[in-house]
Amino acid sequence: MFKISYCAGHYLGTAGKRLPKELDKNETREWVLNDRVARYFAEAAAQYEGVQLYRTDDETGKTFVDIPQRVEQANKWGAALYIDMHHNGAGKIFTGGGVEAFCYPGSAEGKKYRDAIYAAVVKAGGLKGNRVSPLQEKKFDSLSLTNMPAVLIEYGYMDSKADAPVILTDDYARKVGYATMEAVAAVLGLQKRIVYTQADFVRDVLAAAAKLQAAKKG
Ligand SMILES: [Zn+2]
Repeated sequence: MFKISYCAGHYLGTAGKRLPKELDKNETREWVLNDRVARYFAEAAAQYEGVQLYRTDDETGKTFVDIPQRVEQANKWGAALYIDMHHNGAGKIFTGGGVEAFCYPGSAEGKKYRDAIYAAVVKAGGLKGNRVSPLQEKKFDSLSLTNMPAVLIEYGYMDSKADAPVILTDDYARKVGYATMEAVAAVLGLQKRIVYTQADFVRDVLAAAAKLQAAKKG
């Protein structure tokens, strides 16, 4: 069983941390975007064999759980990987942007996941942007307090004219949420569950009926 702990960065009430009015009349909160990606990530994870998830922020967004509290839960649970999901802000409206990903300095395992997730997210979502160093090592709390390899990912800039219209779409959130899980699965060689769907059932019933019909005629 591979245990992944993750969270949507911040919470609904975090001051600042939202799209600027000039780019989004609703001033969508960062947590709302982070949460949407986190939900698609969980949806993708459910397709794989042998994956257990533990989300450390409040899924309603109403209660603030600080980073040490989040990390403590992941450490106690014995997570094998931590993923902290964010959307970036430059503090001014600009035309550049793009995805960025971080791991703890010198963490070879963290770097492996960071690089795989970054590549998959940029490929799926298309926000390569113009960052000089999109892949970095930082001592962010969620990377340094965790006992396991950890990745902090910024899925695009909220104040970028290029990124904002993209990160607001559900389609982008789904693509990058799935890509994040698929990157982890590729690193670990995880297999997808074999799921017997309603469509499979209908196909099998129709095939059986056709066989019966053929048998009667014969
Ligand atoms: Zn953030």
